[in-house]
Amino acid sequence: MKTSPQAKKALIIGITGQDGAYLARLLLAKGYAVAGTSRDAQRTPLANLAALGVADKVSVHSASLTDFRGLWEVIDKNAPDEIYNLAGQSSVGLSFEQPLETFESVAVANYHLLELMRLLGRPIRFYNACSSECFGDTAVPAGETAPFQPRSPYAVAKAAAFWALANYREAYGLFACSGILFNHESPLRPERFVTRKIVSTACRIAAGSGERLSLGNIDVVRDWGWAPEYVEAMWAILQLDAPEDFVIATGRSFSLREFTAAAFAELGLDWTRHVDSRPELLRPADIHASLADPSKAEKLLGWKAGLAMPEVVKAMIASERQALAAREASCP
Ligand code: NDP
Repeated sequence: MKTSPQAKKALIIGITGQDGAYLARLLLAKGYAVAGTSRDAQRTPLANLAALGVADKVSVHSASLTDFRGLWEVIDKNAPDEIYNLAGQSSVGLSFEQPLETFESVAVANYHLLELMRLLGRPIRFYNACSSECFGDTAVPAGETAPFQPRSPYAVAKAAAFWALANYREAYGLFACSGILFNHESPLRPERFVTRKIVSTACRIAAGSGERLSLGNIDVVRDWGWAPEYVEAMWAILQLDAPEDFVIATGRSFSLREFTAAAFAELGLDWTRHVDSRPELLRPADIHASLADPSKAEKLLGWKAGLAMPEVVKAMIASERQALAAREASCP
C-alpha cells in the first residue's frame, strides 16, 4: 500500500491474531504504514488480516519472540514510531499445560522488546498487552491501582511483563504503556476460547447439527467487550503526552451462564436443553468474578465501550450465521 513519506510507521508484534488484525485495519485507516510479525510469516495463514481485507496492505515479517537479534532486525528494518506488542500464548486454559512457553512468549519476549528500545535509544512509543487476569478475583471493580493476584500461569506472565515495563519506564524514561484489557471478543476469536465456542456450537445446533455444548464452570463472571473498539483504546494510549497504564473494559460484568443463555436465546433456543456441564473442563484455579472500573480511560482518553455482553453476543451470532450461510451456499 502507498503511504506518504511522512506517514507514521507502526510495528505490530503478533499481527496475525485477533487484536493484531483489528489494530492493523485501524492504523491503516489512520494513514499509518503498518508492518507486523508472526513466528513464521511464510507458513502462518493470514486469515484474520484477509477477513478484514488488509492482508495485502501490511508487511509481515518472521520473528521469534525470544530471538533478540531477529527482533532487532525487524525493528531496525521498519523504523517504527510505535510498537504494539500483542503476541504470545494468549489462552489462560492452555497456560496451565504450557506454563514455560507462556512465560517465555509473554514475559521474556516483553523484556527483549524493552531492552531493544533502551539500547536503540530511538523515540519509539511502546504498547504492551496486559490482561485483567492479573487482578485475579475482584471484590470491587478493579482500576489501574488495584492489586495483582494472578491465578494462572498466564496471569503470572502478564504480571511480570507489566512490572518489567513499569520498571523500564521509570528507570530509563521509555514511552511505554500497558493496557490492562478485560476480555474482548469478535468473530476472529479462535474456537478454543469459550465465547466463540458457545456462539459457534449454538449456531450449528440451531442449524440442526444435533450436537451438545460442553462447558466447565458457567458461574464465572467476566466483563466482555468488542475487540474492534478495544484496539482504538490501544492507539489512543500511545497518543498521550505522557506514558500511562489504563484499564480497558465495559464496566459491566455478566456470568458465563448469562452469556450462554443470551447466545441460545438469540437463536430462539433454550440453552438448558443443549448444554452439558463437564468437570474435566474446570481449570486447576479460576477467577470467580472479574469486575472493571474503566473510568480513567473515559476521562483521559475519551474512550468508552459501546458494546457490552448482550450486544457482543448479538454481533457474534450474526457474523457466525453469515459465515455458516456462506459455507452452505458454496457447497455444491
Ligand atoms: P491471539 O491469540 O489472537 O494472537 C496472539 C498472537 O501471538 C497469535 O496470532 C500468534 O501469532 C502469536 N502467538 C500465539 N501463541 C504464541 C506463542 N506460544 N509464542 C509466541 N507467539 C504466539 O490474541 P489476541 O489478539 O486475542 O490478544 C492480543 C494480546 O492481548 C495477547 O497478548 C493477549 O494475551 C492479550 N489480551 C487479550 C485479551 C482478549 O480478550 N482477547 C484480554 C487481555 C489481554 P503467530 O502464530 O503468527 O506467531
